[in-house]
Order: sequence, then structure tokens, then C-alpha cells
Amino acid sequence: MALISQRISSMPPSETLAMTQIANELAEAGKDVIKLSIGEPDFNTPEVVKEAAKTAIDENWTHYPPVPGYPELKKAICAKFKRDNNLDYTPDQIIVSTGAKQSIYQVVMALVDPGDEVVIPAPYWVSYKAVVQLAEGKSVYIQTTIENDFKVTPDQLRAALTPKTKMMIFSSPSNPTGMLYSREELKALAEVLRDYPNVIVLADEIYEHINFEGKHESMAQFDWMKERTVTVNGVAKGFAMTGWRIGFIGAPVAIAKACNKLQGQVTSATCSIAQRATIKAMQMDPAISDDIINMRNIFLKRRDLVYDLLCQIPGFKVRLPKGAFYFFPDISELYGKQVPADSVFAKTYNKTTIENSTDFCMYILYDANVALVMGAAFGDDRCVRLSYATSEEKLREAMRRIREAVVKMK
Ligand code: GLU
Repeated sequence: MALISQRISSMPPSETLAMTQIANELAEAGKDVIKLSIGEPDFNTPEVVKEAAKTAIDENWTHYPPVPGYPELKKAICAKFKRDNNLDYTPDQIIVSTGAKQSIYQVVMALVDPGDEVVIPAPYWVSYKAVVQLAEGKSVYIQTTIENDFKVTPDQLRAALTPKTKMMIFSSPSNPTGMLYSREELKALAEVLRDYPNVIVLADEIYEHINFEGKHESMAQFDWMKERTVTVNGVAKGFAMTGWRIGFIGAPVAIAKACNKLQGQVTSATCSIAQRATIKAMQMDPAISDDIINMRNIFLKRRDLVYDLLCQIPGFKVRLPKGAFYFFPDISELYGKQVPADSVFAKTYNKTTIENSTDFCMYILYDANVALVMGAAFGDDRCVRLSYATSEEKLREAMRRIREAVVKMK
């Protein structure tokens, strides 16, 4: 009998975290590595949120919180949904979890039975497929293209739906592509779903506040979708609170109850101090909060800088992202080219031809010391993902190094 269960041995590791781990190891070995692998804002958590956490400790908010989250926090989340998204949720529809990742895990576990189909537009965020696999569901991918801004069309969605479809999972703003669905585009998808009333949509809106086009659009805004959409959000990206591990859902009551039951068996609840601090974050109105607006403006400046520099790299096909903090260039034109025989990549892997996104990322990591993530991890082996949530200086240097390494390919 194997030591590790079949369930875990067959599950892919999180490639975003794996690439960051390799980059960290190289850095520990003394290499000057620029990490564009993990999607993590380089800003500090807003002062008002940190103060709330300190007060929470002094006020002894140190006991088990209620499983779904403190009532004050759930009320603040409902107010946020109303203020920012015009969505009416009641506190019994909110479950606060240890990061949006846990929220997604719980929703999938609560809804997907073995053999159920889950439609996932590709490119997708790495953990969707792993979680569906854990639930023994079947992921059905819809391949999108860079020419279509990596967005799924109504016809593509219709073709992917079957009587076995239980759920659809997508993110907008998208990780990894940075693209956004407009209201009209979302509505067109929702119109298709009208004919499939049993399909639940899991809308991952964690990048809501990093949107360079204007208003964020939620799937749950359409009245026929509200009762079958789970809206996932959290504080990691928009509030620079990755380490606090707070995510939440707004969901139909039956789904919220099921997630609550699961959470009660898994974590009991989420960290009391982080929850108290998140009340303050939820009270920050993104329309007027200097913290949120400044972060977005800085991301926008970096996006424009990286776009200019990426467009100058031969073989890179680049689309201008509209949100989140990622680029997802198509680099497949470089496949089949040779890297120098004396490169670290060539020596480590005993090959000189770049054949796919993993080869390219490893070449760039070992020889240019820039960490990217292979598009294969997100369901598109033609591309690579890079996060621009780091300083302009590091971004300029990273782009210079990547260009230099690419120019050496023959
Ligand atoms: N969501 C971020 C990313 O895609 C953080 C890492 C992770 O959870 O995968 O890089």
C-alpha cells in the first residue's frame, strides 16, 4: 500500500508556488533572482487595517470565532457587495474563509460529485483544475485565444455545456491573462446559461479592484443568475493582504450552509485577528480610498512600462491586459530555437532546443535569473505568465535580462 493517497499523488502541485520556491532556492544560493512568478502585491497592508489588527489583539479577540465569520465582518461584506457591486446578500449568505483559495475549494467540494463536469475557460488559474480533480469531477476546458483577448464566446460556452455540467469557474479580471469581461460579454454568457438552470457559476472576483477600464462587472448582477452564482472575493490582491489569508463568498443560502459545514470540519474558522482587521478593509470605499486608488495607479504605470518593453522582445506576442497584474504573452514563435550550449539550462536539462513553455521558463530562470510561470500550468502551453507586482526598477531589469536571453536564441 502506497504511503501517500492516490488522491494527493495524482494532484498537480501549485505551479505558481513551485516556481516561486525554485526562485527562492536560487536566491538563497546567492543568485540575484527577480521573481515575477507569484501574484503578490509588493505594497504594505494599509495602516488603518494594521491598526485594527493591533487593537483586536489588545481587546482579546483571541478565541474561536464563529465558523462562517464574525457577524460584524459578514455585515461589512454585505455592505461592500451592495456598495461596489450592487449585489444584495444577507449575512447568512456569506462565509469567510482562509483565503479565496479555500473559498473555491469549499464551493467545489460542496457541489461537485464524482463524474460531474465543470466547465473552465482556459487559460485558467492553476488551482481550479486541481480542486475539481480532488472532488473527482471532470474539468471541461474551453480553449480561448490571444486574438480573442482570451475570452470565451457564447457559442464556445454552449458547445461545452452538457446535461452533466454542474459548474462553470472563471475569473474576471483574469488570472493569468489580465483580461476583463464587459457587462455585455457577461450578459451574453448568462443568456446561454439561462437554458441550463442547474449549472452553478463560481465567479472569482479577487482582482476586482485592479481594473484599468472602470467598473467591475459581476455575473450575479443578472437576476436569473443571482440564485445560482457564487461570488468569490477576498482582500489579498486589492488590499495588499496576501498573508492575512482572508477570502469570502456570497452564495445562495443552501450553498453557504454546505460550505459552513465543511469549514467546521476543516479549519473551524478563520484567524480572529485577520477577520477583525478585514472589517476595516471592507469599509474602505474603492471609489475614494487613497490606498486602493494609489495601488491601482502604480499598477497601471507598471503595466504600461512592461507592455512597451515586452513588445520589444523578438518572438513575444503581447496583448495589453485590462486588469489584475499579469501579462500572458504568446511566445510559441520561439519554440524550436536553440539556446547556447554553454547555458545553465542546456547543461542542467541536457538539451538545447526550447520546445515548450516549461523549457522557456527554465531557460529564463537559470540563465536570466527571472522567474516566470509556464503557460502550461494555466492550460496554454503557447504562453508564459509574468506578474508585474514589483518595482519599476526590477521590472526594467527583468525585461532587459529576458530580452538578452531571447536574443541569444538561434
Ligand atoms: N494567486 C496567486 C498567483 O496566481 C498566488 C499564488 C497562488 O495561490 O497560486 O500567483
